[in-house]
Amino acid sequence: NFISAVVPPGEIGIKFDDIGALEDVKTALHELAVLPMKRPELFSRGNLLRPCKGILLFGPPGTGKTLLAKALATEAGANFISITGSTLTSKWFGDAEKLTKALFSFASKLAPVIVFVDEVDSLLGARGGGSEHEATRRMRNEFMAAWDGLRSKDSQRILILGATNRPFDLDDAVIRRLPRRIYVDLPDADNRLKILKIFLAKENIESDFDIRSLANATEGYSGSDLKNLCIAAAYRPVQELLDEEKKGNKYDKTPALRPLNLDDFIQSK
Ligand code: ATP
Repeated sequence: NFISAVVPPGEIGIKFDDIGALEDVKTALHELAVLPMKRPELFSRGNLLRPCKGILLFGPPGTGKTLLAKALATEAGANFISITGSTLTSKWFGDAEKLTKALFSFASKLAPVIVFVDEVDSLLGARGGGSEHEATRRMRNEFMAAWDGLRSKDSQRILILGATNRPFDLDDAVIRRLPRRIYVDLPDADNRLKILKIFLAKENIESDFDIRSLANATEGYSGSDLKNLCIAAAYRPVQELLDEEKKGNKYDKTPALRPLNLDDFIQSK
């Protein structure tokens, strides 16, 4: 199956509030996608306010693009279909037409729906000249034709949301179909603090565990890097407990997370 996930809105389990920082991105997605899907009547008058058919999220790996797509589906009360560009082109390239037709007719049945295309550059990347596989080219053309062919009734309720780390690889024709492009940036220190607070909210941490200094010391870390760091930190007391048990000692309960010495965790970045 070429679709990696189909999830009804109530079952995604991620809301905008679960995502740290990225406030501007959430606001933009609310205006561009949540409102048109939830209040279509406000966007059907006149010509100026039209729901957009496509949005592109671009930015470095691990900054929360997939998370934003899922939360958007929850917020918009929409079904969520996820496909991965590279899987589509490598596994299914023989059947471009059948496949895209199936995808879009499936999406119409599930509307309102967010169709999330991760690694959209592999599916809809720039034309590779003579070296490009004929099948890849056909897949891209079929996809764009099916997308253009969405009836206007459907286009209000079917949103193609692409994500990429390589926006410059996208074909111009694709860029035009993704008129709204939103940059999902690496977090600065204040935003790293917000993200760390989300990850550590339910952890038992020692009182001198200074989240602010951890945020300050993690320049260049993405949300995903910060999560890996927190997982490694949370594992350390468990490891200590297991080590003590091996020596025949017993802890009453798992010890709290201690202040982090970043040097201990540098390999997790
Ligand atoms: P890629 O470009 O590599 O596909 P991505 O931008 O889609 O990455 P995600 O897969 O959404 O990134 O993020 C990876 C994980 O990092 C998420 O599952 C989440 O746990 C965590 N994460 C990233 N950014 C945030 C954030 N701002 N708030 C909370 N968690 C975050």
